[in-house]
Amino acid sequence: MYSYLQQALVLLCLMLGISDFAAAGWQRDEQDIMGTRITVELYHDDDATARQAIVAVMAEMRRIDEAMSPYKPESELSLVNREAADHPVKISPELFQLLKRSLEFSALTHGAFDITFASVGFLYDYRAAVHPDAKARAEAVAFINYRNVHLDDAAGTVSFAKSGVKIDLGGIAKGHAVDRCIDIVRARGIGSALITAGGDTRVTGERWGRPWQIGIRDPRKRDAIVAMLPLENVAVSTSGDYERFFEEDHVRYHHIIDPTTGDSARELQSVTIIGPEATTTDALSTSVFVLGVKEGLALIDRLPDVDAILVDGKGRLHYSSGLQRLSD
Ligand code: AMP
Ligand code: MG
Repeated sequence: MYSYLQQALVLLCLMLGISDFAAAGWQRDEQDIMGTRITVELYHDDDATARQAIVAVMAEMRRIDEAMSPYKPESELSLVNREAADHPVKISPELFQLLKRSLEFSALTHGAFDITFASVGFLYDYRAAVHPDAKARAEAVAFINYRNVHLDDAAGTVSFAKSGVKIDLGGIAKGHAVDRCIDIVRARGIGSALITAGGDTRVTGERWGRPWQIGIRDPRKRDAIVAMLPLENVAVSTSGDYERFFEEDHVRYHHIIDPTTGDSARELQSVTIIGPEATTTDALSTSVFVLGVKEGLALIDRLPDVDAILVDGKGRLHYSSGLQRLSD
């Protein structure tokens, strides 16, 4: 509701012929990149600086997609998948670092997060409602093991222990892209920004002098939310079984794969992680989705600076201990 002061300001602006005073300096754009929806909203006193920052963010998203997409044959990631079983492949420092972090998350989560899930992942086609049968799944699972990915720090190369190993960064690359873009806007002197890539968001500063409001979607009801989080200077990632899925005989096949079975992880409906940066929250949201309530919350409670909100199979909410207070 408008306060008297705001009404007076609007009136003043109308009198002065300033039509859109409320939006001055704020810029917003949405585009489909990386197979997902990118949203950018940011503020700078100078409109041109704000607009240029948005252009730079979208360009960065496209650059990362070109390098890391598993669907583009010319991407650096596709090159690695084609050649790393035959010989060590020299890769960019950026991809090297992201692979390194991915392997660290694998060790931290005892393999729940594993970029080699791709050996089975490529047998699924969610749009065409295709999933591997039990035999094909078992065969592919034999190639899932993050220890099959070898990084050579000195040479800057990656190699695979055997052929049949494939990697996919879908569980971490969007968070990485969001972090890179936050660095880009900050370097341009922007103090308030929200950058979202699909389920991964990071905010810097405030919005209109208040925290940003980020809703957690109800996994089973479109346009409904289960919680609203007021946030400043943090990242939030949600992994949900409603993003890419199909149903067959009342079983939901979706895009988050339990590396031990090669099948979709089915204990939870969604996992939201809040933390300092999006690479971490992205990897952890996928990880906790696979781990489930008990192991997932135990992991989050062991880590500093991160919190979690889980929606289980029955739609019930579970909070990490740092958020228990809010739920009471
Ligand atoms: P997110 O929406 O961030 O949870 O990411 C889901 C994406 O992560 C999937 O589309 C896959 O590309 C990838 N993914 C699925 N299962 C795993 C897993 N167990 N470990 C790592 N990445 C995974
Ligand atoms: Mg994730």
